[in-house]
Amino acid sequence: MNKTMQAAVVEQFGQPLVIKACPIPTPGPGQILVKTEACGVCHTDLHAMHGDWQLKPALPFIPGHEGIGIVVALGAGVTSVREGERVGVPWLYSACGHCEHCLAAWETVCAEAEFGGYTKNGGFAEYILADPNYVAHIPEGLSAVDAAPLICAGVTTYKGIKETAARPGQWIVISGVGGLGHLAVQYAKAMGLLVCAVDIDDGKLAHATKLGADVVVNAKKGDAVEAVRLATDGGAHGVLITAPSLIAFKQGVGMTRKRGTCVLVGLPPGEFPTPLFDVVANCITIRGSFVGTRQDMNEALAFGASGKVKAVVELQPLSAINQILGRLEKGEVPSRVVIDFSLAAG
Ligand code: NAD
Ligand code: ZN
Ligand code: ZN
Repeated sequence: MNKTMQAAVVEQFGQPLVIKACPIPTPGPGQILVKTEACGVCHTDLHAMHGDWQLKPALPFIPGHEGIGIVVALGAGVTSVREGERVGVPWLYSACGHCEHCLAAWETVCAEAEFGGYTKNGGFAEYILADPNYVAHIPEGLSAVDAAPLICAGVTTYKGIKETAARPGQWIVISGVGGLGHLAVQYAKAMGLLVCAVDIDDGKLAHATKLGADVVVNAKKGDAVEAVRLATDGGAHGVLITAPSLIAFKQGVGMTRKRGTCVLVGLPPGEFPTPLFDVVANCITIRGSFVGTRQDMNEALAFGASGKVKAVVELQPLSAINQILGRLEKGEVPSRVVIDFSLAAG
């Protein structure tokens, strides 16, 4: 085996990633080594490389938290996965397993959680070190490139939709129909909801209609809140905001029906103004949601394996990573770009 691997590394915040040869890590006790087949590029990777959030990753680091690959080596004591198994290395890289949140099956908010492609090196590399207790188990019949977007964009939106508590036949707004949102539309339809898709790009909205959205609203044209309230007869029972834009958050609260729930998953840095009287008097719940638990992951992947949800992917080599991130920042990625490690570099 080669001793080095190609990886895309953040060496300084706000600078292009550096593609270079790095040592292939060796799995220590309780760790596994995964040979990467595919890795999706999430808007979170942009926040990570810009150092957008309070908790910043230590430099240098390898981003990527939609990495799928084959287990090629086991550290001492690993029994829960086998060599040759296809796994995903998600954002929730590991957690402590014994705090109050882990015990309540809310490992996503464990204070000791590590994050793939952030506090731990991620999937923009030919090999990834992983914790076998937290990897995603990719069902038979789901290819690596199809599975990649499901282990962040998929699980995050599936969980977020559940957190709105909207029931079949009720309305949900999906605000932002890019990488996360194009999957959210499909999960919501598969879960029996009426879908109102909101975005600022007509191309993305046309795509959302093809994927099953019942109504679409362009948030840049006219009064988007009023348009949604009209289309949904008084506001949506659930609102899921994936847009990485603060204005979408204030609008999303306004689009929520009385006694409805507005779930926040987009992570633009900053704060948004909340119309306190309306939230109180209309008994609206505003709730954060962060990726999903391992059980949510299994459920989200099962929708993919059964063909009810399918990521729309554009395949690119690792060498194109800086162009991909540039396009994502400008809103020019239609759905999800997935780095396909079988494509020749160049
Ligand atoms: P993306 O760039 O693929 O898609 C974002 C979409 O939002 C685009 O279609 C864009 O046109 C649209 N948009 C931009 N401004 C808008 C506005 N004002 N109103 C409506 N739509 C608007 O990004 P993505 O990969 O889907 O990620 C979206 C956000 O979700 C990022 O902030 C990311 O960090 C965050 N995220 C959060 C979690 C979590 O666990 N909470 C997980 C993954 C990603
Ligand atoms: Zn992500
Ligand atoms: Zn814990």
